[in-house]
Amino acid sequence: MKTKRSGSSFNSLNSKRKLESVFLFTTGKCNAKCAMCFYASDMDKKAQDLSFEEIKKLSESAGEFKRLWLSGGEPTLRDDLPEIIEMIYKNNHITDCNFPTNAIKTERVIEWLARLRKNCPDMNISISISLDGFGQTHDTQRGIPSFYKAIETLQKVHENFKDDGHILTNIATVITRYNIQEIIDFVAWVYGRFHISTHTIEAARGVTREDGIKVLTEKSLREIQDQIAPYYLFYAKRIGEGMNFIGRGLTKFFYVGLMRAMYNIRAGNLEKPTPWNMDCTAGETTLVLDYDGRFRSCELREPIGKVQDYDCDVQKIMQSDAMKKEIEAIGHGYKANCWCTHGCWIMSSITFNPGKMISMLIKANKETKRLASEYPVSIGEDVLESLENKYKLDRAKLIEIGLIPGIATAEKQTA
Ligand code: SF4
Ligand code: SF4
Repeated sequence: MKTKRSGSSFNSLNSKRKLESVFLFTTGKCNAKCAMCFYASDMDKKAQDLSFEEIKKLSESAGEFKRLWLSGGEPTLRDDLPEIIEMIYKNNHITDCNFPTNAIKTERVIEWLARLRKNCPDMNISISISLDGFGQTHDTQRGIPSFYKAIETLQKVHENFKDDGHILTNIATVITRYNIQEIIDFVAWVYGRFHISTHTIEAARGVTREDGIKVLTEKSLREIQDQIAPYYLFYAKRIGEGMNFIGRGLTKFFYVGLMRAMYNIRAGNLEKPTPWNMDCTAGETTLVLDYDGRFRSCELREPIGKVQDYDCDVQKIMQSDAMKKEIEAIGHGYKANCWCTHGCWIMSSITFNPGKMISMLIKANKETKRLASEYPVSIGEDVLESLENKYKLDRAKLIEIGLIPGIATAEKQTA
């Protein structure tokens, strides 16, 4: 039987602004070399990671907040990460933990998820696995051969946690010059082959490791977003499985609406600042902690201090003159000096602007419905197989991983 999620990452309306999400860059180490990494120059500094004791002090002073967003470096390279998450769960009563990974360390991902489910029973975990394209495309973009490893991890997460409603599996894809030509095929293949809850596509952001990989224009991004919009109706259905009629309806309304609204705002800000038509709440509801203790209001703005200079006290940090000046400079998203395409903050800011949110979601749902008839989706086994052939995937490996049935299994299924 499926266990139920204790709350949802996307359906909460908030009008009171207080710290809601902490983004913790767990380590400055990584085992990949992604072309679009916006954190490469920070990691190159090879500063020391925050210690467990420093993170403990931060956690003990933060009070309750809802969401912990892990980041890195590669989170699975920090050995004491499960202890850190468990401590934050206990001290701060978090309900959601977003766990991104390049999924190279399969065993560790599975082991840690099992441990966290046991020790943090009421916490939802969104495991977000990076997959950037078919086979060689993914490997080129990630700078190391890791495509089959990542899908092995996806498959193992599914096998081990498919009945656990507290675990959502997401795939995250960053669009660059390497994968832009195949992105529509890739979204179709991902939907058809993986039992995931959602697939987000991101525009490469910040200063990337490799120059010249940001090839998206507002026009091309909007075209891609329009063509993939119908998939979000399908994903909404998956997320709503097991819920009653009202639950399914609300899930669909919020999920489809938030995804489309976020994508619309993002496309509008790809080339030039375009008002979000709502406050950006960075610095009021979010705090970013770099792996070495520098802190920021959001991932894309510069660090404004070091936690060590504030005794690792989150209250002091949030009340600091540095943070007040930062919020002033951000200008609540209405000042043209700060605009971005960052999905996490757009999404978070939407939920903190309930007045604007409902009309935005209604419009977004209507658009998605229209796009579903404009771009009908049909994905059968024949389509999936032809995509695997077109992009030269190793079918023997896919069978070995368990993603597609081998001859023996297929015969058994049709018998
Ligand atoms: S994008 Fe993530 S996985 Fe890739 S190099 Fe940067 S930190 Fe590592
Ligand atoms: S608009 Fe974007 S870059 Fe500016 S503070 Fe908000 S999230 Fe950060």
